[in-house]
Amino acid sequence: MNNKDLIEKAQTSHNLSKEELISILNDESVNDFLFSAADKTREKYVGNAVHLRGLIEFSNICKCSCKYCGIQKDNHLIKRYRLDIEEIISLAREAKLYGYKTVVLQSGEDAFFTKEKMCSIISEIKKMDFAVTLSIGEKTYEEYKAYKDAGADRYLLRIETTDRNLYRAMHPGMSFENRIRCLKDLKTLGYETGTGCLVGLPGQTTESLAEDILFFKEIDADMIGLGPFIPCENTPLERDKGGTLIAALKVMALTRLLLPDINIPATTAMETLNPNGRISALQSGANVVMPNVTDNEHKKLYSIYPGKAGLGNSPEEYKNTITSKIESIGRVVSTGYGFRRREGDSSD
Ligand code: SAH
Repeated sequence: MNNKDLIEKAQTSHNLSKEELISILNDESVNDFLFSAADKTREKYVGNAVHLRGLIEFSNICKCSCKYCGIQKDNHLIKRYRLDIEEIISLAREAKLYGYKTVVLQSGEDAFFTKEKMCSIISEIKKMDFAVTLSIGEKTYEEYKAYKDAGADRYLLRIETTDRNLYRAMHPGMSFENRIRCLKDLKTLGYETGTGCLVGLPGQTTESLAEDILFFKEIDADMIGLGPFIPCENTPLERDKGGTLIAALKVMALTRLLLPDINIPATTAMETLNPNGRISALQSGANVVMPNVTDNEHKKLYSIYPGKAGLGNSPEEYKNTITSKIESIGRVVSTGYGFRRREGDSSD
């Protein structure tokens, strides 16, 4: 079968082998065909609504040393911040004004936010009738359980790469096995679980990207967030070559073909590489956007990579711009919470 036939097959079977994925990833001549197949699959399974999730980046203090990340602990050249609980709650209140139905709480791995503190933030935000997503890194089963009991609905924890050797090289002092343990705990506890990878890490192969996609399917991820690796100053990878938007879109489109009913964001890293990156992503399989509601002063300091898109905009401007962009491509802003709806599931 040629690669176009393989893509067509995947539109109905939602299966591709590792070799088939590699063959499509290596073939630049089928890119548009692939993006359009992913777009059709997106429309068929999750429709035309785009879910907006208000993102609050509440601390850039981190105990990890991920080599690609600008807020890793060894970067002594950035100013650190952490919002206090009242500030976080007040950003959530703002997110409510923009009509967002989900708040995503993201931070470095900051031990200041103990289990008790996180639980009180989560329960305050739940009182405002939001779905709550956490993206705060590796925790114990007990911590994940406590957040869930406090009302958290979803959790994002990218595997970053399934290539064990590359994972080890990128994450000094961390363990691949523990990251897998975290994802399994989150699934067991009933979170809608999101994972994903970086595309274009130094030394990353097409084969390992194919394995990443198969991993997403194997763990039955509910959400997949991925984006190009963007080299960041004051990190060990500052002089390395980054990933491309096209490569990231290809991995995303193949993920949509294999996991047709999940939620997939058009990520900020994609928009950072190309001013139209988010729209391209929405037309290549994505159905979610995560507008940043963090205030401008702190948003700038959450500098995981340089040139983060949307830094100049106020959250209100961003809401208006993204809404009109979504409408200009014939899509609509969702009015629901945007939980995953599995095929055959009639609940909302
Ligand atoms: N501490 C949280 C949140 C990390 S930031 C956690 O561990 O999950 C969210 C994501 O940003 C990371 O998962 C990573 O994939 C991405 N990221 C970090 N540095 C990046 C870079 N230089 N280029 C592109 N994406 C990056």
